[in-house]
Amino acid sequence: VGLILAEPVRADRDYPPFRRAMMDGYAVVVADAGRTIDVVGEVAAGQAPALTVAPGACASIMTGAPCPEGAEAVVKREDVTLSGRRVALPARVAAGQHIAARGSECEAGALTLEAGMSITPLVVAVLTTVGRREVRAFAPPRLAVISTGDELVEAGRQPGEAQIRNSNGPMLAALSRLAGLPEPDQLHALDTLESLEGTLQRASRADIILLSGGVSAGRFDLVPQALRRYGAEPVFHKVTQKPGKPLLFATRGRQLIFGLPGNPLSSHFCFSRYVRPAARKMMGQPPLSAVYSGRLSEPLRVKSARTLFVLARATEAGGGAWSLRPLLGQGSADIFASAGANAYIRLPVGDHDLPAGATQEFLWIGGSQWPSSLT
Ligand code: AMP
Ligand code: MG
Repeated sequence: VGLILAEPVRADRDYPPFRRAMMDGYAVVVADAGRTIDVVGEVAAGQAPALTVAPGACASIMTGAPCPEGAEAVVKREDVTLSGRRVALPARVAAGQHIAARGSECEAGALTLEAGMSITPLVVAVLTTVGRREVRAFAPPRLAVISTGDELVEAGRQPGEAQIRNSNGPMLAALSRLAGLPEPDQLHALDTLESLEGTLQRASRADIILLSGGVSAGRFDLVPQALRRYGAEPVFHKVTQKPGKPLLFATRGRQLIFGLPGNPLSSHFCFSRYVRPAARKMMGQPPLSAVYSGRLSEPLRVKSARTLFVLARATEAGGGAWSLRPLLGQGSADIFASAGANAYIRLPVGDHDLPAGATQEFLWIGGSQWPSSLT
């Protein structure tokens, strides 16, 4: 469920595959309308009828059962008067009533599902109905996350005085899960060319490599150089955006490589803005999500020489409107002020002195409003 079909699916036989009773009642001939006739047998769902219906004789029938030969209509149980083995039929019985004709929903060979459709629970029902136990779908890309930095220790270990816990790895794994991707492989590289290159080699089978850290201007920011050694072609490095300016993108064959800045909020933003759309495209899904608009719940004064994305809490304000509370922390290293965010407010380059109530564009983190289990 959630994947995109990569092939069309056709019906393996007519649906319904037999003339199906759509009500519990009596299978009759139309000419018997208004008469009292014999009940000569019964057909339950799952039974092939062993009897035929002729003038003066009808069969008791259950919803989902095949109509016996000769039957022209089904009369609902509540519309007859039963006395012993005989029923009095109503005055009017229309030909075909309460019978789904064979092939009326779909004929054998007809296209039932098109490539590009999202696999929903209803699509699962159709696949199963037409006998498909396997179907081609766009495979989600396999991700490898390489957290770089001599300062990092893995969650569960006690950091030394100059060390910090690796939070980007688990955060990127959580973002991947939210994007419908499989759990990424988690790797750690030190700030040396040897360690970086060796770790890239270990990730060489992934469809997408995410590196966190090591793409800025520091003396130990060796990711660009390590990528060249690894044989990757740089596509771009640095984007006029805040957060996430040092973002690097490279490819090696069909592999996509994102060098995400190490600051947690930069990594977070670059995943939402670049990695998720790329992964969605690989899964046959529209890459970009809709832009919403909402009103600021408090004034916002910011200036930026780059396109600015401000983490915010969007809440329903009634009548389909959204209220936006900006969660400005102390910069892209401060995850504490913004932990409650579910959206990004997007602001163009410039000085902004926005009053409460101003209408602003925003994007959902993860592309859509979160299910209530996450809010
Ligand atoms: P860098 O991009 O490597 O210069 O890192 C920028 C900042 O982000 C530094 O303060 C790093 O310590 C921090 N940082 C880098 N990687 C991680 C990580 N995996 N988890 C938490 N913080 C990180
Ligand atoms: Mg670093």
